Amino acid sequence: MSFVTCQVTPPPPKHNGESFMMQKLYMEGVDRAIASWHPSRNKQNVWELSGLYEGDIMMPSSSGESERNAILDDTLRWHEGVVPYHISDDFDDDEKEVIMGAMDEFHQKSCIKFRPYEEGDDAYVVVRGNNPGCWSYVGRRGGGQVVNLRGRCVQHGVAVHELLHAVGFHHQQSAADRDDFVKIHWQNIVPRTRGNFRKYSPFKVTDFNVGYDYDSVMHYSSHAFSKNGKKTITPLDEGANIGQRSGMSDKDQMKLNIMYKCDSSRNRPASSSSSSFSYPQLQSFWDSPFDFSYFK
Ligand SMILES: [Zn+2]
Repeated sequence: MSFVTCQVTPPPPKHNGESFMMQKLYMEGVDRAIASWHPSRNKQNVWELSGLYEGDIMMPSSSGESERNAILDDTLRWHEGVVPYHISDDFDDDEKEVIMGAMDEFHQKSCIKFRPYEEGDDAYVVVRGNNPGCWSYVGRRGGGQVVNLRGRCVQHGVAVHELLHAVGFHHQQSAADRDDFVKIHWQNIVPRTRGNFRKYSPFKVTDFNVGYDYDSVMHYSSHAFSKNGKKTITPLDEGANIGQRSGMSDKDQMKLNIMYKCDSSRNRPASSSSSSFSYPQLQSFWDSPFDFSYFK
Protein backbone atom coordinates (compact mmCIF):
# COMPACT_ATOMS: atom_id res chain seq x y z
CA MET A 1 0.00 0.00 0.00
CA SER A 2 1.37 3.43 -0.81
CA PHE A 3 0.60 6.59 1.03
CA VAL A 4 -0.21 9.99 -0.32
CA THR A 5 2.58 12.36 0.64
CA CYS A 6 0.94 15.57 -0.47
CA GLN A 7 -2.09 15.27 1.78
CA VAL A 8 -3.59 18.44 3.14
CA THR A 9 -2.97 18.94 6.84
CA PRO A 10 -6.16 19.98 8.62
CA PRO A 11 -6.34 22.69 11.30
CA PRO A 12 -5.68 21.39 14.83
CA PRO A 13 -8.65 19.27 15.91
CA LYS A 14 -11.06 21.02 18.24
CA HIS A 15 -11.77 17.80 20.12
CA ASN A 16 -8.33 16.61 21.08
CA GLY A 17 -8.58 15.33 24.62
CA GLU A 18 -5.79 17.67 25.67
CA SER A 19 -7.48 18.85 28.86
CA PHE A 20 -7.70 15.27 30.02
CA MET A 21 -4.15 14.55 28.98
CA MET A 22 -3.01 17.23 31.42
CA GLN A 23 -3.41 14.57 34.08
CA LYS A 24 0.10 13.54 33.30
CA LEU A 25 0.86 11.07 36.04
CA TYR A 26 -2.39 9.25 35.44
CA MET A 27 -1.78 9.03 31.71
CA GLU A 28 1.77 7.84 32.22
CA GLY A 29 0.22 4.97 34.15
CA VAL A 30 -1.94 4.25 31.10
CA ASP A 31 1.17 4.19 28.93
CA ARG A 32 2.85 1.70 31.27
CA ALA A 33 -0.22 -0.55 31.48
CA ILE A 34 -0.56 -0.66 27.70
CA ALA A 35 3.16 -1.16 27.09
CA SER A 36 3.10 -4.26 29.27
CA TRP A 37 -0.11 -5.59 27.75
CA HIS A 38 0.28 -8.69 25.63
CA PRO A 39 -2.46 -10.28 23.48
CA SER A 40 -1.78 -13.83 24.59
CA ARG A 41 -1.21 -13.08 28.28
CA ASN A 42 -3.83 -10.46 29.03
CA LYS A 43 -7.50 -11.26 29.33
CA GLN A 44 -8.52 -7.63 29.04
CA ASN A 45 -8.83 -5.77 25.78
CA VAL A 46 -6.03 -3.26 25.37
CA TRP A 47 -8.43 -0.35 24.83
CA GLU A 48 -9.99 -1.07 28.24
CA LEU A 49 -6.73 0.10 29.79
CA SER A 50 -6.88 3.65 28.48
CA GLY A 51 -8.11 5.18 31.71
CA LEU A 52 -11.09 7.04 30.30
CA TYR A 53 -14.85 6.73 30.63
CA GLU A 54 -15.72 3.08 29.88
CA GLY A 55 -12.02 2.67 29.19
CA ASP A 56 -11.58 4.48 25.91
CA ILE A 57 -14.35 7.04 25.41
CA MET A 58 -13.21 10.65 25.38
CA MET A 59 -16.06 12.86 26.56
CA PRO A 60 -16.49 16.30 25.03
CA SER A 61 -15.31 18.98 27.44
CA SER A 62 -18.04 21.52 26.79
CA SER A 63 -20.89 21.24 29.26
CA GLY A 64 -24.07 19.51 28.27
CA GLU A 65 -22.59 17.72 25.33
CA SER A 66 -22.04 14.52 27.20
CA GLU A 67 -25.78 14.17 27.43
CA ARG A 68 -26.02 14.21 23.66
CA ASN A 69 -23.79 11.24 23.10
CA ALA A 70 -26.55 9.12 21.73
CA ILE A 71 -26.36 6.83 18.80
CA LEU A 72 -29.87 8.04 17.96
CA ASP A 73 -28.81 11.62 17.48
CA ASP A 74 -28.61 12.28 13.74
CA THR A 75 -26.43 15.34 14.26
CA LEU A 76 -23.66 13.06 15.49
CA ARG A 77 -23.60 11.05 12.27
CA TRP A 78 -21.33 11.73 9.35
CA HIS A 79 -23.15 13.27 6.41
CA GLU A 80 -23.82 10.63 3.78
CA GLY A 81 -21.34 8.38 5.56
CA VAL A 82 -18.33 10.39 4.37
CA VAL A 83 -15.59 10.65 7.02
CA PRO A 84 -12.68 12.94 6.10
CA TYR A 85 -9.53 11.81 7.87
CA HIS A 86 -5.92 12.71 8.40
CA ILE A 87 -3.34 10.24 9.65
CA SER A 88 -0.56 12.05 11.47
CA ASP A 89 3.13 11.40 11.07
CA ASP A 90 3.21 9.79 14.50
CA PHE A 91 2.95 6.49 12.62
CA ASP A 92 5.39 4.64 10.41
CA ASP A 93 4.27 3.04 7.14
CA ASP A 94 3.45 -0.32 8.75
CA GLU A 95 1.27 1.38 11.34
CA LYS A 96 -0.42 3.52 8.69
CA GLU A 97 -1.17 0.34 6.82
CA VAL A 98 -2.90 -1.10 9.89
CA ILE A 99 -5.02 2.05 10.25
CA MET A 100 -5.89 2.15 6.55
CA GLY A 101 -6.72 -1.57 6.77
CA ALA A 102 -9.23 -0.80 9.50
CA MET A 103 -10.81 1.90 7.33
CA ASP A 104 -10.88 -0.59 4.51
CA GLU A 105 -12.97 -2.96 6.60
CA PHE A 106 -15.61 -0.19 6.73
CA HIS A 107 -15.36 0.20 2.95
CA GLN A 108 -15.79 -3.52 2.42
CA LYS A 109 -18.69 -3.90 4.80
CA SER A 110 -20.66 -0.65 4.60
CA CYS A 111 -21.19 2.55 2.68
CA ILE A 112 -18.97 4.51 5.10
CA LYS A 113 -16.34 6.27 3.05
CA PHE A 114 -13.14 7.43 4.68
CA ARG A 115 -11.41 9.92 2.44
CA PRO A 116 -8.41 12.20 3.02
CA TYR A 117 -9.17 15.57 4.57
CA GLU A 118 -9.75 18.34 2.05
CA GLU A 119 -9.55 22.04 2.70
CA GLY A 120 -12.90 23.31 3.93
CA ASP A 121 -14.09 20.09 5.58
CA ASP A 122 -15.83 21.20 8.75
CA ALA A 123 -15.67 17.83 10.47
CA TYR A 124 -12.90 15.28 10.28
CA VAL A 125 -11.04 12.59 12.15
CA VAL A 126 -7.37 13.02 12.99
CA VAL A 127 -5.73 9.69 13.78
CA ARG A 128 -2.82 10.39 16.10
CA GLY A 129 -0.54 8.59 18.49
CA ASN A 130 0.92 11.49 20.44
CA ASN A 131 -0.99 10.78 23.65
CA PRO A 132 -1.26 7.67 25.81
CA GLY A 133 -3.91 5.09 25.14
CA CYS A 134 -6.45 4.03 22.55
CA TRP A 135 -9.47 6.31 22.57
CA SER A 136 -12.09 8.13 20.57
CA TYR A 137 -15.08 10.42 20.86
CA VAL A 138 -18.49 8.92 20.12
CA GLY A 139 -19.99 10.19 16.87
CA ARG A 140 -19.23 13.18 14.67
CA ARG A 141 -18.29 16.14 16.85
CA GLY A 142 -17.53 18.82 14.27
CA GLY A 143 -14.35 20.84 13.91
CA GLY A 144 -12.02 17.87 13.94
CA GLN A 145 -11.75 15.09 16.48
CA VAL A 146 -8.93 12.82 17.50
CA VAL A 147 -8.83 9.05 17.35
CA ASN A 148 -5.76 8.23 19.42
CA LEU A 149 -3.81 5.01 18.89
CA ARG A 150 -0.44 4.65 20.54
CA GLY A 151 1.91 1.70 20.74
CA ARG A 152 0.06 -1.57 21.16
CA CYS A 153 -3.20 0.20 20.31
CA VAL A 154 -2.14 0.11 16.66
CA GLN A 155 -3.85 -3.17 15.79
CA HIS A 156 -6.57 -3.87 13.29
CA GLY A 157 -9.32 -4.77 15.80
CA VAL A 158 -8.53 -1.83 18.08
CA ALA A 159 -8.51 0.62 15.17
CA VAL A 160 -11.87 -0.76 13.96
CA HIS A 161 -13.24 -0.42 17.51
CA GLU A 162 -12.14 3.21 17.89
CA LEU A 163 -13.35 4.15 14.41
CA LEU A 164 -16.74 2.58 15.20
CA HIS A 165 -16.93 4.93 18.20
CA ALA A 166 -16.11 7.83 15.88
CA VAL A 167 -19.01 6.95 13.57
CA GLY A 168 -21.43 6.66 16.50
CA PHE A 169 -21.16 3.28 18.21
CA HIS A 170 -21.25 2.80 21.97
CA HIS A 171 -20.06 -0.28 23.81
CA GLN A 172 -22.30 -3.30 23.41
CA GLN A 173 -22.72 -4.05 27.11
CA SER A 174 -24.09 -0.56 27.85
CA ALA A 175 -27.28 -1.54 25.99
CA ALA A 176 -30.47 -1.16 28.03
CA ASP A 177 -31.30 -4.87 27.73
CA ARG A 178 -27.85 -6.16 28.57
CA ASP A 179 -28.94 -7.75 31.86
CA ASP A 180 -30.95 -10.22 29.82
CA PHE A 181 -27.70 -11.37 28.22
CA VAL A 182 -24.79 -10.83 30.60
CA LYS A 183 -24.20 -10.90 34.33
CA ILE A 184 -22.13 -8.12 35.88
CA HIS A 185 -19.98 -9.28 38.81
CA TRP A 186 -19.89 -6.01 40.74
CA GLN A 187 -17.78 -7.47 43.55
CA ASN A 188 -14.87 -8.01 41.14
CA ILE A 189 -14.85 -4.52 39.61
CA VAL A 190 -12.34 -1.86 40.65
CA PRO A 191 -14.69 0.37 42.70
CA ARG A 192 -13.86 3.67 41.02
CA THR A 193 -14.57 2.12 37.60
CA ARG A 194 -18.07 0.85 38.41
CA GLY A 195 -19.54 3.69 36.36
CA ASN A 196 -18.03 2.02 33.31
CA PHE A 197 -20.72 -0.64 33.59
CA ARG A 198 -23.56 1.84 33.33
CA LYS A 199 -26.48 1.07 31.03
CA TYR A 200 -27.96 3.57 28.59
CA SER A 201 -31.68 4.09 28.29
CA PRO A 202 -33.25 2.83 25.07
CA PHE A 203 -34.26 6.43 24.46
CA LYS A 204 -30.60 7.35 23.99
CA VAL A 205 -29.08 4.31 22.36
CA THR A 206 -30.65 1.81 20.03
CA ASP A 207 -29.56 -1.50 18.60
CA PHE A 208 -31.80 -0.93 15.56
CA ASN A 209 -33.63 -4.15 16.43
CA VAL A 210 -30.54 -6.13 15.50
CA GLY A 211 -30.33 -7.59 18.99
CA TYR A 212 -27.65 -8.13 21.60
CA ASP A 213 -24.34 -9.19 20.14
CA TYR A 214 -21.87 -11.19 22.23
CA ASP A 215 -19.58 -11.23 19.22
CA SER A 216 -19.41 -7.45 18.81
CA VAL A 217 -15.97 -5.87 18.61
CA MET A 218 -17.58 -3.21 20.86
CA HIS A 219 -18.12 -5.66 23.73
CA TYR A 220 -16.02 -5.57 26.91
CA SER A 221 -13.83 -8.56 27.62
CA SER A 222 -14.88 -10.83 30.48
CA HIS A 223 -12.12 -9.35 32.69
CA ALA A 224 -12.70 -5.66 31.98
CA PHE A 225 -11.84 -3.46 35.00
CA SER A 226 -11.25 -6.44 37.26
CA LYS A 227 -9.66 -5.68 40.63
CA ASN A 228 -8.79 -9.28 41.45
CA GLY A 229 -8.21 -11.18 38.19
CA LYS A 230 -11.72 -12.62 38.33
CA LYS A 231 -14.36 -12.09 35.68
CA THR A 232 -16.42 -8.91 35.81
CA ILE A 233 -18.91 -9.73 33.06
CA THR A 234 -20.06 -13.12 31.82
CA PRO A 235 -22.57 -14.19 29.15
CA LEU A 236 -25.78 -15.77 30.44
CA ASP A 237 -25.58 -17.98 27.37
CA GLU A 238 -22.83 -20.31 28.50
CA GLY A 239 -21.77 -21.12 24.97
CA ALA A 240 -21.08 -17.49 24.14
CA ASN A 241 -17.75 -15.68 24.15
CA ILE A 242 -17.26 -11.95 24.59
CA GLY A 243 -14.45 -9.51 23.93
CA GLN A 244 -13.24 -10.61 20.50
CA ARG A 245 -10.57 -8.33 19.09
CA SER A 246 -10.42 -9.20 15.43
CA GLY A 247 -12.90 -6.88 13.70
CA MET A 248 -16.57 -6.14 13.02
CA SER A 249 -19.03 -8.91 13.76
CA ASP A 250 -21.93 -9.62 11.42
CA LYS A 251 -24.23 -7.68 13.72
CA ASP A 252 -21.78 -4.76 14.00
CA GLN A 253 -21.87 -4.63 10.23
CA MET A 254 -25.64 -4.84 10.18
CA LYS A 255 -26.05 -1.99 12.69
CA LEU A 256 -23.59 0.17 10.79
CA ASN A 257 -25.48 -0.39 7.55
CA ILE A 258 -28.80 0.48 9.17
CA MET A 259 -27.39 3.50 11.02
CA TYR A 260 -26.08 4.97 7.79
CA LYS A 261 -28.95 3.70 5.64
CA CYS A 262 -26.48 2.03 3.31
CA ASP A 263 -27.93 1.16 -0.04
CA SER A 264 -27.43 -2.50 -0.80
CA SER A 265 -27.19 -1.99 -4.55
CA ARG A 266 -24.34 0.45 -4.06
CA ASN A 267 -22.50 -1.44 -1.43
CA ARG A 268 -22.18 -5.12 -0.77
CA PRO A 269 -19.72 -6.90 1.46
CA ALA A 270 -16.69 -7.85 -0.61
CA SER A 271 -16.47 -11.38 0.66
CA SER A 272 -19.39 -13.68 1.28
CA SER A 273 -17.69 -15.29 4.27
CA SER A 274 -18.34 -12.54 6.78
CA SER A 275 -21.92 -11.73 6.01
CA SER A 276 -24.83 -13.81 7.17
CA PHE A 277 -27.57 -11.24 6.87
CA SER A 278 -29.54 -10.12 3.89
CA TYR A 279 -29.98 -6.55 2.80
CA PRO A 280 -33.69 -6.88 1.94
CA GLN A 281 -34.13 -7.38 5.67
CA LEU A 282 -32.64 -3.94 6.27
CA GLN A 283 -34.82 -2.39 3.64
CA SER A 284 -37.95 -3.73 5.25
CA PHE A 285 -36.73 -2.35 8.56
CA TRP A 286 -36.65 1.15 7.11
CA ASP A 287 -39.98 0.64 5.46
CA SER A 288 -41.51 -0.29 8.78
CA PRO A 289 -43.61 2.28 10.63
CA PHE A 290 -41.13 2.51 13.52
CA ASP A 291 -40.72 6.21 14.28
CA PHE A 292 -37.24 7.34 15.24
CA SER A 293 -38.35 10.93 15.79
CA TYR A 294 -39.91 9.61 19.00
CA PHE A 295 -36.43 9.47 20.52
CA LYS A 296 -35.46 13.04 19.84
ZN1 LIG B 1 -14.43 1.54 23.23
